Amino acid sequence: MRALNVTADEDYLFVEWDNGEKDKILLTNVRWNCPCAYCSEARKGVDTEHFTVYHKDELEVVDIIPVGNYAVKIRWGDGHDLGIYTFELLKKLADEG
Ligand SMILES: [Zn+2]
Repeated sequence: MRALNVTADEDYLFVEWDNGEKDKILLTNVRWNCPCAYCSEARKGVDTEHFTVYHKDELEVVDIIPVGNYAVKIRWGDGHDLGIYTFELLKKLADEG
């Protein structure tokens, strides 16, 4: 499944899929699941039931950049932009959330 459009507001990431479905994912959840090596390492050993408390700028989506036809890169307000969110990951987060 491919995402045709990925947008964000202050609280949610919105995904429009190519089959017409729409999902929204809490930005806290998106940030927590950042797939980059740095964040993956930081998550190790942390109780996933308890989200890290983020600063406001860490949950602000500044830019959403398409990566090929399989993923998007999200640039956050604190400058972090290493995470490549595949459509598969976005779907997984949407289904969990
Ligand atoms: Zn990251």
